[in-house]
Amino acid sequence: MNINGAAVWDMDDRMDAFVTACKQNGLRLTHQRLEIYRELMAAKDHPSAEMVYTRVRMRIPTISLDTVYRTLGSLEECNIIGRVGASTSSARFESNPLPHDHFICDGCGEIRDVFASELNREALARAVPEEYVVRSSHVELRGFCPACGQGGGRD
Ligand SMILES: [Zn+2]
Ligand SMILES: [Zn+2]
Repeated sequence: MNINGAAVWDMDDRMDAFVTACKQNGLRLTHQRLEIYRELMAAKDHPSAEMVYTRVRMRIPTISLDTVYRTLGSLEECNIIGRVGASTSSARFESNPLPHDHFICDGCGEIRDVFASELNREALARAVPEEYVVRSSHVELRGFCPACGQGGGRD
């Protein structure tokens, strides 16, 4: 896996991994659940539940926002998908399970994947008192995307 491992990981393989993970966690493979995951896998923008709902509804007009919320919630509980930027008002989700970090634009809320191959995650984990158990690490960089301007977006 290289620094852009996310890009080279075949979609079919990821779908297979998803099916396996659901079985292991006792989650039924419903059509809606598969479509929600497929949409999240195709998304590059770390969509919110509302954004996933809008997209999935184009193929499944009968799906409800509540179903999307509950599905994303149970997939997150099983660590099949990840939640990004819990500090923002609305939770955003992603299906990329590879270790990576995020740049978040304070202007428009864009969330961009950052693959920091030189980040020393072991050193980072060692900074936590040893009686705590570190299960994963995530660095959140904040600032402004090109569209929002350098140092722009000031109130
Ligand atoms: Zn922006
Ligand atoms: Zn991400």
